Amino acid sequence: MRLLVLPGDGIGPEITAAALPVLGAASEAYGFALEVREEPVGHSSLQRYGITVRPELLQMARDADGLILGPAATFDFRDPEKGEINPSAFFRKSLDLFANIRPARTWPALPQKLGAFDLVVVRENTEGFYADRNMERGNAELLVTEDVVVSLRRVTRKACARIARVAFGLAARRRKHVTAVHKANVLKIGDGMFLDECRACQRDFPQVALDEVIVDAAMAHLVRKAERFDVIVTTNMYGDIISDMTAEASGSLGLGGSLNAGENYAMAQASHGSAPDIAGRNLANPFSLILSAAQLLSWHGRRRNEAGCVAAAAGIERAVENAIAEGEITRDIGGRLGTKETGDALAERIRRELQR
Ligand code: NAD
Repeated sequence: MRLLVLPGDGIGPEITAAALPVLGAASEAYGFALEVREEPVGHSSLQRYGITVRPELLQMARDADGLILGPAATFDFRDPEKGEINPSAFFRKSLDLFANIRPARTWPALPQKLGAFDLVVVRENTEGFYADRNMERGNAELLVTEDVVVSLRRVTRKACARIARVAFGLAARRRKHVTAVHKANVLKIGDGMFLDECRACQRDFPQVALDEVIVDAAMAHLVRKAERFDVIVTTNMYGDIISDMTAEASGSLGLGGSLNAGENYAMAQASHGSAPDIAGRNLANPFSLILSAAQLLSWHGRRRNEAGCVAAAAGIERAVENAIAEGEITRDIGGRLGTKETGDALAERIRRELQR
């Protein structure tokens, strides 16, 4: 598997460096070849090349079997004219990675903040309120006068239909239940269209039940009884917000794995940001990016019929569960290890567990 690895900003380089030995161990243990090409994005690229994402990275991404993108300091990148491009938006948009798949589950050895649950947030990834990616050209946030801002949301039938299909396909392989989270009581036309497409899709998946919940109530239901959710499908911004909450409820934002997938390409990217408050201190939990990389292996393995990659993905998740049970973890989830040591211990565990 040929991977393009882009470490990003803040904790990005630390969690990426911790994830790579784990992937190396998985490739040895599960018998698939791994080739890694690493390139800078974000501040390091801005310093070196005057731009946060060099245009040639797009071809490198297309030539690879998958991408791993570390978190970027997107809040710092305001002016594309000055080379400040949001790397995450750039790849999601350029590669049409329309489905952002963010699983969240509780782990038996960690305190359960909302009881036990196992769910997946399926978030539309290319339009909605995300101003830097929802227009063909230009930005959907406008300063009309010094004191007036207009932010435009784009909702298309095509994007609603294809995200619904991903959610139902996933639910069909899980507990066969989709919850469409919306605000169609207020955003009657846009979220109404999203709901229409979810209902239409359900007709192709009669074995999967569809629930519809308004987004504010959905947050209350998640806190009250997260176990009732299997697959949550929703538009871009709600999905972004809900999935940080579900990751934290699973134990830590540092456990938030996430895959951005389209028809032909996929990019592993943790749910969280660059965490400047803990950057450079060997404190960040690398499991978020490691679990994201496992999702990428599974996506690739299923498409290419590579059983080794699919088995490696399951093996990595199992090893994470066992590492948590035995306390080989970072401080955010109650451990004592640093980022690097957590990655090294997990790599070692993967080698050991397969030999048993
Ligand atoms: P954040 O997600 O970086 O951090 C929120 C909190 O979670 C912080 O307390 C942080 O220390 C903690 N945290 C995050 N990841 C962790 C990990 N792996 N282990 C342990 N703790 C972890 O959110 P923020 O501080 O609001 O944003 C920082 C920057 O990241 C901003 O520039 C923002 O725009 C950017 N951002 C980027 C992405 C992305 O690249 N996909 C996503 C969200 C935010």
